[in-house]
Amino acid sequence: MAGGKCIALIAHDQKKDAMAEFARRNQDSLADSHIVATGTTGGRVLDVCPGLKVTRMKSGPLGGDQQIGAMIATGEIDMLVFFIDPLTPMPHDVDVKALTRLAVLYDIPMALNEATAKRLIKTLNH
Ligand code: PGA
Repeated sequence: MAGGKCIALIAHDQKKDAMAEFARRNQDSLADSHIVATGTTGGRVLDVCPGLKVTRMKSGPLGGDQQIGAMIATGEIDMLVFFIDPLTPMPHDVDVKALTRLAVLYDIPMALNEATAKRLIKTLNH
């Protein structure tokens, strides 16, 4: 996508509040980027940061994680912030495995928790 980086944001289950708060705190850093998010996550991000450029894919359980995985495979994603919820059982397991495998394969900077995401986001405008 023209101009800026393309950042994928996905938050599973109870991690949606954390993702919305992460976006709110870092909205200045994200302002020049294009954000691609799964459906509900993208909606939550837009609620708190209506000025950000967000494209919402399908909701994760309907294929949104896989849509973002396909974008990784076609070179359209520069960074992945993927807040999985370690306190919920297995339903997202296949999506977690598929997306992390592609991020590793294509060597995409990837944060699976907030501490890493905070550090990655600081590299955006440098
Ligand atoms: P969602 O998708 O943002 O639409 O909830 C993420 C997921 O739960 O897989």
